[in-house]
Amino acid sequence: MDTARDIHASGLKVTAPRQRILELFHTGRDQHLTAEDVFRLLLEEHEDIGMATVYRVLMQFVEAGILARNQFENGPARFELNTGKHHDHLVCTQCGRVEEFVDPYIEKRQRVIAEQRGFALIEHTLSLYGQCRICSEQQAGAIAASS
Ligand SMILES: [Zn+2]
Ligand SMILES: [Zn+2]
Repeated sequence: MDTARDIHASGLKVTAPRQRILELFHTGRDQHLTAEDVFRLLLEEHEDIGMATVYRVLMQFVEAGILARNQFENGPARFELNTGKHHDHLVCTQCGRVEEFVDPYIEKRQRVIAEQRGFALIEHTLSLYGQCRICSEQQAGAIAASS
């Protein structure tokens, strides 16, 4: 990962806050962070970057094509690395965890459905909402413990 190179290549000036923020998206997998998450993670690392700066940098990254912005239901915007690869999302309504998936059959069916209706498809977003495995297990554990 070379965040400086990526920032430079997108036409933005390489600054310390921009580098730190982009690094966060490269750590761990399935990173779908809110501006608040980014702010909190920076605080944990004792980085002195204000919320206004975080938000501005995130929007600059979206405009530059480095990050993609997702809106899940009524929640806050979630930002992720723009890998250029299409994927859909599973969103836990309890803990906010976001997982990615790609299913060739679903992709194909959507194209067929649009085609059958003479609809020129440009793009689609598909988000499945529910409870993630961890939240389900925790709930099952809590029920078991209380009975
Ligand atoms: Zn969950
Ligand atoms: Zn994603």
